[in-house]
Order: sequence, then C-alpha cells, then structure tokens
Amino acid sequence: MSHRTRNDSNSKVHLFGKSVHSLAPTSFPLTTDHSPLPGCTDPTPDQRFTSGTGTSDTGIIGGGLAGLVLAALLAQRGHSVTVYESDRLGGKLRRKEVGGLSFDTGPSLFTFPSVWRSFLARLGEASDPLDLRPLPGGLGLHHTPFGPVPLPVPPGHPLHADWLRVCAAAAPVAPHLETLLTTPPRLTSAAFLRASAALAQATGPHLTAEGWIRARRVHPALAHALRTHALNAGLSPADAPALYALLPALIAGHVCRPAGGMGVLLDTLILLCRARGVQFWGTESGGTQSSGTVRRLDSASGSLTLDGGEVIRHDLLVSAIDPARLAALRGVPVHSPLPRRTVSGVAIYAAFREAVPLPATSILPPTDFAAFRAALRAGALPPDTLALVHADGPRLAVLLTAPATARPLTPDHPWVRAQLARVETTLSVPGLLASASAVAAFDPAHYAVGGHPGGAIYGLGHPAWRGGPLHPQPYRLHSRLWQVGTGVHPGGGIPAILGGALIVDELLTKT
Ligand SMILES: Cc1cc2nc3c(=O)[nH]c(=O)nc-3n(C[C@H](O)[C@H](O)[C@H](O)COP(=O)(O)OP(=O)(O)OC[C@H]3O[C@@H](n4cnc5c(N)ncnc54)[C@H](O)[C@@H]3O)c2cc1C
Repeated sequence: MSHRTRNDSNSKVHLFGKSVHSLAPTSFPLTTDHSPLPGCTDPTPDQRFTSGTGTSDTGIIGGGLAGLVLAALLAQRGHSVTVYESDRLGGKLRRKEVGGLSFDTGPSLFTFPSVWRSFLARLGEASDPLDLRPLPGGLGLHHTPFGPVPLPVPPGHPLHADWLRVCAAAAPVAPHLETLLTTPPRLTSAAFLRASAALAQATGPHLTAEGWIRARRVHPALAHALRTHALNAGLSPADAPALYALLPALIAGHVCRPAGGMGVLLDTLILLCRARGVQFWGTESGGTQSSGTVRRLDSASGSLTLDGGEVIRHDLLVSAIDPARLAALRGVPVHSPLPRRTVSGVAIYAAFREAVPLPATSILPPTDFAAFRAALRAGALPPDTLALVHADGPRLAVLLTAPATARPLTPDHPWVRAQLARVETTLSVPGLLASASAVAAFDPAHYAVGGHPGGAIYGLGHPAWRGGPLHPQPYRLHSRLWQVGTGVHPGGGIPAILGGALIVDELLTKT
C-alpha cells in the first residue's frame, strides 16, 4: 500500500485537456476511465492476475513511453500502479500545434513492430489500435557525398548487388532480433544464448559499426549511407556497436508509422493504462495543478518526495527517467563526461499551406564522419551535421544532430540557419523554410530539462563492447528499485523501450 505523510485536500487539476476533481484523500488527482480503448479488449479479471509471485503498490517515476508501457504491464498483472510525471505524459513524444496544424514531436519512425505486438499480446489485447502502415520509401533517400542512396536499395539500382551482400551478412540475425530486444539477458536462457550466438557470428571480430561496414567492402556511397544509422545508438559509427551497422538491412523494409501519426501511440498507451486502473499524478501545462515532480527518492524505504514536500511510500519503485537524473534524486554523484554522451538535436517543425514537395524521408549524412565525431565529442557544432527530413503533406520536420551541451539553438542561430540552407540546397528546395506559415523548434536546452545532462537523447553511450544487448543490463538497482527507458536498454528508441519494459515485467514476476 502507498503511505502518504501529508493530508491532501480535494483538488482540481487539468490532465489530458480535462479538468478533473480529486475527491477522496487517498485517491490521485486523475479519475480513472475503465472503458476499453476502441479496438482494445477490456482485460478480464483472469488476465489481470495471471502471473507473478505477488503484486504490489508500485510507483513509476516518469510518464514517457517507457513509464506508460511498464505501467500498463504491471497493472495488467494486478499491481496497483501510480505514474508520477513532472511535465507531460509522453515525454519526448508529444503533440504540438504549429500554424494551426498538429505535429507529433520526437520519434517519427516506428521499427520492429513485432515487439509492439508482443506487448499487446502480454496485455491480452486481441487487436492493434495503431494501424501501422509502411512508410513510403523505407529509410529514405540518403544524400551522401558519393551520390544518393535509397535504403532499401531497389532492384535495378547500381548499388543493388552491394546492398544484397549487406543484407545477406545481416540476415542470420533477423530471426533473433525480437529475442534480443525482449529476453532477459541471462546465460541460463537458451533463447538468449542462441540469439547472442547469431549476433556474434554476424558481427564477427568487429566491435564497432565502422569496423563492420569497412569489412563489407561495398561502394563508398552505400557505406556512407549505412554509417548514418549508427546514430540510432546516438553515437558516431566509430563508437556505436557493430549491431547498428546491420540495422538498415534488418529494418529498411519494415519502417512504419501509425496511420493517424505517432501521437496515436501515446493515446493508445494512456488508454491501455487507464483501462487497467493506472493512476496518474502529475500536471499538464497551464492552470493550477498538483505536481508529479519527484524531488527525492529513497530506495531503502521505497519512498519518494514530491515538489512541495509530500512523501509517498510504495512497495516498489520503478524509474522511467534518465539514469543520471535518477542518480541525482538518490543523492548519488552524477558522472556524465561530454565525450561519452549520446547526441542531442534541434528539431524544427514547419507548417505550410500546401503539401511539401519532398519525399517522406530524406537523410543528409555528415560529409566526413571523423570530423563529425570529433566535433560532437568536443561539444562543438559539426560543420555539416546529420539532418533527417520528414515531409508529410503540409508538415515538415527537420531534425539536426547536435552535441549534448544543453545549448540553446533557435532557428535563427547562424549554425542552424547554415544547416537548413544545406538541406534546402541538397534537396533543391531553395527558400522552402522561409515560405513556411509557422515554425517551432526544440533544442538541446529543451531536451536537457527532463532528460540527461546536455540533452543527450539516449543518455550516456556505452563503450561498443558493452553497448549491445549482450551485457547484463542494470534493470534492478535495489531490492525495491528498478529502472526502464531509453538510457537503460541500449539503443533507446521505441523498440528498446518496449523490449526493456517487457524484460522488467518478466523479471518482476520472478522476484
Ligand atoms: C527528435 C527525436 C527524434 C526521435 N526519433 C525516433 C524515432 O524515429 N524512432 C524511435 O524509435 N525513437 C526516436 N526517438 C527516441 C524516442 O523518442 C525516445 O527514446 C523515447 O521517447 C524516450 O522515452 P522514455 O520514456 O524513455 O523517456 P522520456 O520521453 O524522456 O520520458 C521521461 C519522462 O520522465 C519525466 N521526468 C523526468 N524527471 C522527472 C521527475 N523528477 N519526476 C517526475 N517525472 C520526471 C519527463 O518529464 C518525461 O516525461 C527520437 C527522439 C527525439 C528527441
């Protein structure tokens, strides 16, 4: 049971655009809607209490995707779950209105949909409300210094034979990827050992993405395009584990997005949580609200202290925030040297009156990855950075990779302007952004607020030999304290978050 050391008065708060009254002193300030999600089945009592050696009163710190995914899983098994969120549910995935259009910020590519389906299956959900659709053009057109490269490379393209060789080298890992993402990394698990062996065989003696790509001896244009995807680890190819070099071959044909946009993922997770009785303690912007900001955490007693001094004790705590941020809450020294941080970014969202004349995804890799890496590690702005450009009707998103220095980088900053000019020149759309009806941007300073120091999107980078799924993850920090989320499961991103939460859910049934 949770224990609270301060009396609560009835309060009125705003969540999900609604004003909600908290009526009972022991309830949290969000009414719980138990109605099933359209397309989702309401869990039966049997499904809620199927597994696990015991259920507890669990507090989850952080209501980003990781916190919401684990909240639904634990509530499904009968835990009483409360999620504490200091800002907005969804974390890096949120909706933002720009020029009268709604933009989904943060993740734009949904990969490894089988991990999502495993999550739904564990919840006992028969149908998939996301309606995932393949993204036209897969991973997009890569504008390398050696020429444009579409991934996947279609038949008839001069690079197709090289691409097939890369695919063949990566193929033995394909049947094991879901296992690697979702199975507790235990030497006693036969499935995990099989999957690890397949990965080790495919990566061979190469520790890093750079090493693996060089050994393929493919055309420089294709090699350059492949290097770009080391950034899925938030690292340069010389630092990212070799697995990341295999990813384009493994995912290029399966990149997707919910038909209604990425925001549907957030809506779905919130409804899946609500349908299972998850309580939310937190705020949305505007108005007078209760705070869900956790200021201190004591794992020995299972208690957390909220803004304003309220202390709440739970049987079990799960951190779904960045590990460095968690360390600060526990009073543990935070160690995050700049060269080890993953990248941050500037995300620019532009609204137009007409459809943007660009393909769904265009990628501008840095011209020189060595110079790019040196700049990021020094905290300097790379002369030409990785730019991802997503066009969707009248919406344009441009994501520029930047060092994790918490630096404010507004759209009128000279470096941002130079990178946008490079995008316009390379994609032959001069003056495109000037013709936008409205522009909004998030920068490293923004990503630092609720995340890792400097705004490192995937937290601290691990050395290549520790960065893959093979090393034991620090999922459990104390008998009462577990952790999930981007900075915990290497690679970050939606599949790693889902997989990490499935793993923690499974491990919790065995404790
Ligand atoms: C621009 C951009 C593009 C991306 N593109 C992709 C993509 O295409 N595909 C993909 O798979 N992934 C992508 N990602 C990564 C993906 O968005 C993240 O990995 C994921 O959203 C992180 O989820 P999380 O729950 O681990 O962390 P977060 O979203 O950071 O959630 C943590 C939450 O904890 C809250 N919090 C922090 N401190 C406290 C506290 N003290 N008390 C209470 N609450 C607290 C924060 O407010 C936040 O809501 C992208 C990310 C960015 C920024």
